[in-house]
Amino acid sequence: MSESFIPVAAPALIGNEKEYVSDCLNSTWISSKGAYIDRFESMFADFVGVRHAITCSNGTVALHLALLARGVGAGDEILVPTFTYVATANAVTYCGAKPVFVDCDPSTWNLNPDAVRELITSATKGIIVVHLYGHPANMDPLLDIAREYGLFVLEDAAEAIGARYKGRPVGALGDIGTFSFFGNKIITTGEGGMLTTNDDEAAALIRRLKGQGVDPARSYWHDIVGYNYRMTNIAAAIGVAQMELIDTHIGRRREIARLYGLGLTGLSDLTMQQAAPYAEPVYWMNSVVLGPSWIVGRETVMDRLARKGIETRPFFYPMHKLPMYSSGADGRDFAIAERISSRGINLPSGAGLSESDVSFVCKELRGALLGEGPP
Ligand SMILES: *Cc1c(COP(=O)(O)O)cnc(C)c1O
Repeated sequence: MSESFIPVAAPALIGNEKEYVSDCLNSTWISSKGAYIDRFESMFADFVGVRHAITCSNGTVALHLALLARGVGAGDEILVPTFTYVATANAVTYCGAKPVFVDCDPSTWNLNPDAVRELITSATKGIIVVHLYGHPANMDPLLDIAREYGLFVLEDAAEAIGARYKGRPVGALGDIGTFSFFGNKIITTGEGGMLTTNDDEAAALIRRLKGQGVDPARSYWHDIVGYNYRMTNIAAAIGVAQMELIDTHIGRRREIARLYGLGLTGLSDLTMQQAAPYAEPVYWMNSVVLGPSWIVGRETVMDRLARKGIETRPFFYPMHKLPMYSSGADGRDFAIAERISSRGINLPSGAGLSESDVSFVCKELRGALLGEGPP
């Protein structure tokens, strides 16, 4: 038995992070101006293939800025997958708008385009798609519906840097993309976020809003209410070091997913997120959903793994189950999201996992599942 602890997600600080942070300290450029901000933004724009990449303090405010840049306000309705992290819905609420929840697809777990059309009302302004767990959402049908009804499309790509949809990188598919660099994401800056867009006007407004609304040509002249949502040069320095090794970070994720796929074959009634034909996922999380024939419950499985030093997480609660959003269900049923959410387990998935870590997790997961007999 392993004595070690295997976390769900740990940052992989495997490049020039220390050197670049020291450089910030030595140069005293530690606040939100500095060369690393510009470098991080231009590396990111190149990587995603967009004209503008704009740093900000985290992935939640990136969503808030994107909604503000599309003029979202009181009375507006924004379609949001119910199966997502709470930040996606909260950002809509910050604008005084209402998140209207959408059920997910049973195999990719992403927003189901077929469920969108019937939810559109005269108050609907836009759709936020989430590329959940690093798997791109099915964009073309959503973009078609958005065009038909004149809606904007924001991509919450917090979990999906580097993922591709029909060969095109996420964050460049809708009007504006948002990313997170929290410590557990594919690349990290401690806390941090980024917006991506090809829309020059939106980019200029986002830059203004994140810096207290100041007029770029006139110091201390503020003609809109802005925010302080800036990233520090220190965080950007970590981001530059992470971006230098982005292919390594993503390559490790894909290798870990491949090993899980091999290690868990043959277990019946157990599903993983299925890569759709259009998708090149980046596997932020490797997860399993227990089918109904398993006798053993999810919490028992997670407890057994914890006793072996293996950290796991239950899936997100669907947003319509949370107290502040329960009225957003509007009496509708979200059968897929509820089933997945109540039976899903996130397995250790960080880029630092070794091949033997993954085979240990697979072996112990089999043991935990089969402890009370096969389904
Ligand atoms: C992490 C995450 C966010 C929020 O990012 P923070 O940097 O933690 O604010 C938003 N949406 C999704 C889907 C996320 O996973």
